[in-house]
Amino acid sequence: MEKILISRCLLGEQVRYDGNDNLIPHPLITTWRDRWVPVCPEVSGGLPTPRPPAELQQDGHIITIEGEDVSAAFNRGALHALMLCKQHNIRFAVLKENSPSCGRHQIYDGTFSGVKVAGQGMTTQALLEAGIQVFSDQELDALADAVSVIESR
Ligand code: SF4
Repeated sequence: MEKILISRCLLGEQVRYDGNDNLIPHPLITTWRDRWVPVCPEVSGGLPTPRPPAELQQDGHIITIEGEDVSAAFNRGALHALMLCKQHNIRFAVLKENSPSCGRHQIYDGTFSGVKVAGQGMTTQALLEAGIQVFSDQELDALADAVSVIESR
């Protein structure tokens, strides 16, 4: 059975920067309970919950709304996610869109004004570079198709 890396907040865990979750009402969240390998890169990187919101800047650094450079913690979280993928032979991940760690297709533009731009979060970038297929939380059906192709071989 394929194990799949998933953003912890998508499973209903309250690890978001504001102490909330991003639980998604999709049947796979419960039916694939045994597949999920949960990760929150920001928490595993050493950041507390709640924490100030942070955004990826054009120079590649991650800065909080208070001006603190938290790039090192985000990088530790990305490395931890990669380690989990190696441990569990993971080929697929489903991560929360728009996050500076987990965003798959879109992230905030770095100005804390609510504007989104095309881009990936730091963990997503690391996983893609390692050859892992990363889906957003809005692409669970496409993920299910990809997993079913692999498992029917
Ligand atoms: Fe969810 Fe990822 Fe943000 Fe953690 S870092 S709260 S898993 S989106």
